[in-house]
Amino acid sequence: MELIDLSSEIFAGMQVHSSQPPVVVEQWNDHGQKVTIGKTVHSSASVRLSMGDHSGTHVDAPRHFDPAPGAASIEQLPLERFFGPGLCLDLSHVPLRHAVSPHELQEAVERSGELLSPGDTVLLHMATNIRLRGTPAYETDFPGLSPDAVHWLADSGISLFGVEAMSPAPAGELNLQAHMICAERGITHIECLDNLERLVGRGRFTFIGFPLKIRGGTAGPMRAVAVFP
Ligand SMILES: [Zn+2]
Repeated sequence: MELIDLSSEIFAGMQVHSSQPPVVVEQWNDHGQKVTIGKTVHSSASVRLSMGDHSGTHVDAPRHFDPAPGAASIEQLPLERFFGPGLCLDLSHVPLRHAVSPHELQEAVERSGELLSPGDTVLLHMATNIRLRGTPAYETDFPGLSPDAVHWLADSGISLFGVEAMSPAPAGELNLQAHMICAERGITHIECLDNLERLVGRGRFTFIGFPLKIRGGTAGPMRAVAVFP
């Protein structure tokens, strides 16, 4: 069995969307502080985390993009949504800021040699990390899905889709539309994935990515993994 880590690291000052708070990691306890409990001298280390729920690799909860009062928050989504068959599509050739069409998705599925099945998690490798991560353009110039492509994925019955970028569709109006289509169609998406290039050309895997159980959370940071037998 082979496990491929699809999550990015969480660290102080990491790149986050400008709408989100900065990630702060502070030492809370360290081994320089000794505490005496009875006859035992003891020390421990821990850190305090301060971060938005959309920091690092995370899945958006409907509550993030759907203003309806009953829209689900992250701890209300069934775990079954985050464990199941996965496929990664190679769209690494698309230009920056490009909105991928349903036809381009269909061609990528054909190149993969697989068929999409209901319940799939579909990860979209657009070479965003290789081209942009660590630069200001990571927040503005990434490619993504066109509104029709989000509908196409929903029509195929997928459970989830995921991208390397901070957003599922090119920045601005298209990204708002993609989120609203997710709300309308009852699907959602993972953002800020890593290592997708390691999945390309390898066929199907089992996707596992359980979000943190944050009460009322609008997203859940997750450790996403692709498992090959
Ligand atoms: Zn998000």
